[in-house]
Amino acid sequence: MKSCISGYLLLLACLCMLPATVWSQTDQKLPVQYEELTAVQFVSAVKQSAATCIIPLGILEKHGPHLPLGTDLLSAREVAKAAAGKEYTIIFPPYFVGQIFEAKPQPGTIAYNPELVWNFLQGTCDELARNGIKKIILFNGHGGNNNFLQYFCQVQLACRKDYAVYLFNPGDDPEFDKKFESMRKTTLDGHAGEMETSTMLFTHPDLVHQEVAGSQSGADQNRLANLPDTYVGIWWYARFPNHYAGDGRAGDKKLGQLLFDHDVQQLVSMIKTVKLDTMVLKLQDQFFKESENPLQPK
Ligand SMILES: [Zn+2]
Repeated sequence: MKSCISGYLLLLACLCMLPATVWSQTDQKLPVQYEELTAVQFVSAVKQSAATCIIPLGILEKHGPHLPLGTDLLSAREVAKAAAGKEYTIIFPPYFVGQIFEAKPQPGTIAYNPELVWNFLQGTCDELARNGIKKIILFNGHGGNNNFLQYFCQVQLACRKDYAVYLFNPGDDPEFDKKFESMRKTTLDGHAGEMETSTMLFTHPDLVHQEVAGSQSGADQNRLANLPDTYVGIWWYARFPNHYAGDGRAGDKKLGQLLFDHDVQQLVSMIKTVKLDTMVLKLQDQFFKESENPLQPK
């Protein structure tokens, strides 16, 4: 009996010496947001996420006269949070560093220099990988980042890495498109137009000032009609100098829910496939090995 009690006391002493977090959090539902995880939970989160992390990319830029500067950031994070709630992954903190020179004439734009934009993203990926996250998902909420992010992915092959970057790049969904087309009211719909206003009406209705959406024009001014078949950096400013494309007055909460749910569904399925994927890292390894010795017979 005595030895039983002393054994029990020893066990109790050992348990007390463990950090409280180790045994009080094992059955807890882990937060999906990186900044909400404790260091101890982070270790479990890396395991539970199958070493994945998603970076929802937004920007700080004007969104017509009626939507907040952080629209892309806010909506991308809402989609990511909903998706990660269904298929666990870690969500990187609010990320607003990206390509946005075209909005510099507008109040509130934060347009960092290109080296900083590049290094910030590469550095973030490197640091995530150092912390055990070997599959990084880029979920882009900002159209101005599209070319940059594809190039960023290509450049990941420039030198050996022990992690992979996956860019969310959904294909067509004709069934969804049919439903969407039956609900939309406008034909010109780009930045801060019907779609984006609808999504924000669904996710952040208090931040939408739809009553002033018509106070500026989101019409295409088509000022480079003299240059067909040509790409120039000023193209966006030439067409939409108000940094507004479309008409936010047409925004509708129901359409926003349709768009939001569809994004979440596509992102959930991407997270699942990325978690299961073993091919990209394997091919990268093979690629780097062959690149170091290109004359070696394959
Ligand atoms: Zn936007």
